[in-house]
Amino acid sequence: MKIVIVGAIAGGSTVAAQIRRAVPDAEITLFGRDPLLGYGTCGMPYVIGGLIEDKSKLVGSSPEKFSEQRDINVQLKHDVLSINRDNKTVEVRNMETGQTFTESYDKLILSPGGTSRIPDLKGLGDLPLFTLKSFKEMEEIIDFIDREKPQSCAVIGGGFIGIELAENFALRGIKTTVIERNERIMNIMDPEISEVLGKEMTDNNVEFYFEDAIERIEDKRLIMKNGGNLEVDFIAASLGIDLNTQLAVEAGLHIGPTKGIVVNSFMQTNDPDIYTIGDAAECKDWFTGKPKNVKLAWHVHRQSFIVARHLAGNPVEMNGLLGSTITKLFSLTAAMTGHSAKSLSDEGIEFDTSVYEGRTNAGYYPDHGQILLRIHYDRESRLVLGAQAVGDKGIDKRIDVIATAIMGKMTIDDLAALELCYSPAYSSPKDPVNMVGYKAE
Ligand SMILES: Cc1cc2nc3c(=O)[nH]c(=O)nc-3n(C[C@H](O)[C@H](O)[C@H](O)COP(=O)(O)OP(=O)(O)OC[C@H]3O[C@@H](n4cnc5c(N)ncnc54)[C@H](O)[C@@H]3O)c2cc1C
Repeated sequence: MKIVIVGAIAGGSTVAAQIRRAVPDAEITLFGRDPLLGYGTCGMPYVIGGLIEDKSKLVGSSPEKFSEQRDINVQLKHDVLSINRDNKTVEVRNMETGQTFTESYDKLILSPGGTSRIPDLKGLGDLPLFTLKSFKEMEEIIDFIDREKPQSCAVIGGGFIGIELAENFALRGIKTTVIERNERIMNIMDPEISEVLGKEMTDNNVEFYFEDAIERIEDKRLIMKNGGNLEVDFIAASLGIDLNTQLAVEAGLHIGPTKGIVVNSFMQTNDPDIYTIGDAAECKDWFTGKPKNVKLAWHVHRQSFIVARHLAGNPVEMNGLLGSTITKLFSLTAAMTGHSAKSLSDEGIEFDTSVYEGRTNAGYYPDHGQILLRIHYDRESRLVLGAQAVGDKGIDKRIDVIATAIMGKMTIDDLAALELCYSPAYSSPKDPVNMVGYKAE
């Protein structure tokens, strides 16, 4: 079986390795535009901030080693230009030589990710503007900071990557202002959680312009729509990504309402010989079965496994997605799984919320911390629908337990009965997860 993979970072490199294990005799070719293979995208903000000192630690295998160890034909700096579904071929351009050639496939796997949105700002002129999606973009930011020693910056967008960037600029001693068109950062989470995160940023000298946007730029001065202005040395835009679906669109693959490429539970598109994984794939929501696009790394890895098993003739299905996610912000951690209060209201689902705010572990233990844990559950069935937490420690554990509870179709009352481990360093005899269950009772 001849397999061609498009995109060679998170999904592409993972699915290639998975297929090699699942289908030992497959002939695998991997094309990627990027000059690197499968690096740790998620670590990039921390290289910028200096927490990860050696950027090369993000880079996994060299293409040569990867090819040799797994017998995979890795072709980096190669752009796949088009798909001919009738002939089962792709047209590829070698980005170094400019030469194009045709490659045939039995099965084609797309993991093309997305491209950072660039704001259209009047008067950008000489004010440098950066985005962070690739290793090269990360290097550009680091080179600029090292060379120009900027004193101030504006981060446009207060989502996950925007706040991680803001944190890391601030840690480099750069006066950082976040510009967010909504009334708060991280509006994917409940307002009560965002508020704690916003305060943590303010406490660490990050400033905000909420419900505002840049109207125009004059020299280095940002003139805001609401009348304010600020001077910065550079801008980092974190406005999300546009999915790289052009190839798929031109090949007649179905695009769904989330703008992702529609796939079934085996990650096949409407052409059963073409699969899509990663950021560009439109899957289903765990609860509602409605289209859902999640741009996170766990999903890419699971989807790679699903494709490999399907190709091996030993299929397992992709579950609906919860969108479990976590982030670190200065000394805090915030995480969520499943639905937020807003997404439940948008879906018209009747729910109640149980809240625990208190210690993460025994108060007499020296490094005890604080946690705010919110769980939403169905008013009728009492099934857990979503949870969010913010605090000092053990946030990952609580949200992961609740993600497991959701997938096990547990009710809020079952949470009180969960037998969880306890020692003063980690928890209390009634863990915060138990507590939300008791409170709901
Ligand atoms: C700064 C940052 C931090 C992140 N942090 C986290 C985190 O903490 N946790 C988490 O879960 N997720 C995180 N993510 C998200 C995670 O990195 C993505 O979900 C994941 O990389 C998506 O994998 P992918 O294979 O779909 O796309 P990518 O990894 O983006 O790879 C797509 C590749 O395909 C190439 N390509 C596209 N079209 C073609 C073509 N026609 N021909 C050849 N090549 C093509 C692209 O150039 C790109 O190199 C982060 C992302 C960023 C940018």
